[in-house]
Amino acid sequence: MGLPPHLAMKLGAHLIKQKIRRVEKFAMIMELEPLFACNLKCAGCGKIQQSASVLKQRMPVAQAVAAVEECGAPMVSIAGGEPLMHPQIDQMVTELIARKKFVVLCTNAVLLPKHLHKFTPHRNFAWMVHIDGLRERHDESVSKDGVFDQAVAAIRAAKAAGFAVYTNSTFFNTDSPKTVREVLDFLNDDLKVDRMEISPGYAYGKAPDQDRFLGVDQTRALFRDAFADGRRRRWRLNHSPLFLDFLEGKRDFACTPWGVPSYSLLGWQKPCYLLADGYAKTWRELLDTTDWENFGRGKDPRCDNCMAHCGYEPTAVMATMGSLKESLRAVSMR
Ligand code: SF4
Ligand code: SF4
Repeated sequence: MGLPPHLAMKLGAHLIKQKIRRVEKFAMIMELEPLFACNLKCAGCGKIQQSASVLKQRMPVAQAVAAVEECGAPMVSIAGGEPLMHPQIDQMVTELIARKKFVVLCTNAVLLPKHLHKFTPHRNFAWMVHIDGLRERHDESVSKDGVFDQAVAAIRAAKAAGFAVYTNSTFFNTDSPKTVREVLDFLNDDLKVDRMEISPGYAYGKAPDQDRFLGVDQTRALFRDAFADGRRRRWRLNHSPLFLDFLEGKRDFACTPWGVPSYSLLGWQKPCYLLADGYAKTWRELLDTTDWENFGRGKDPRCDNCMAHCGYEPTAVMATMGSLKESLRAVSMR
């Protein structure tokens, strides 16, 4: 299973529109970070390393909506920090859904039960809960005991209230095919979440713990083994088949970081969510002033170990749309 059908249609229509208009670089999913503050201190997180003055700030709703409208992406992923610490986050979500955006609200889920009543289930809205492993592994990842149980209870509550719930799991070199399979089996079969996203951890310059990140060969071996025995087909993964092929090392792609741009309190991040070579004030300025051809594996040493969704999923989605065979594969099986 890949993207929900109506989201796949939304993204497909967006791609066709760009093709007809001959737009070369365009956003498919916008990463929106309306704050950097968080209630947890996960070992691999670079966001909470911002200065105290930045951590205090909250992006006004009108600013967030204007940035989304300027870039035109049909899907918006709101992250942070912990978005539920933003006092107008429910209003931000409502405004974006009213503009026909597909919105996913990323959260560590600790505050989710307290805020659930402020939101309404909608076909263009999903929670995205961060779960890196089973109890011991997840609590170690977020550096706090008890968070796994809180997140599981929050997922159950959100599903019981009629919301779509997605999960996002990041894997490091401390993971094995067994730990990947255990957590995805649990999320897929026991919790029955709607969709699951997976990501190899990326070595942020600002992350305090630099020893846990995966190289390309390690990433490929990890996912190749984890996906064996037909699990990849059975799991409700929220990725295109070609991106999963890419993670397994069956395909290789160039990075297209403009497909998933990141906008935060600091501006539009150059060139992607993971690197921070300065910030642009507008989407247009980001497009016009970034040397896009200088990024990707083999071009910038910081990209050499990157297989992140934000750089390579857009390439995989475009390759899918450009091939009838891959389009049929995306809607049927992997
Ligand atoms: S929950 Fe997310 S934002 Fe908060 S510290 Fe962990 S990784 Fe960072
Ligand atoms: S390869 Fe990764 S780090 Fe480099 S530009 Fe692409 S997404 Fe960013």
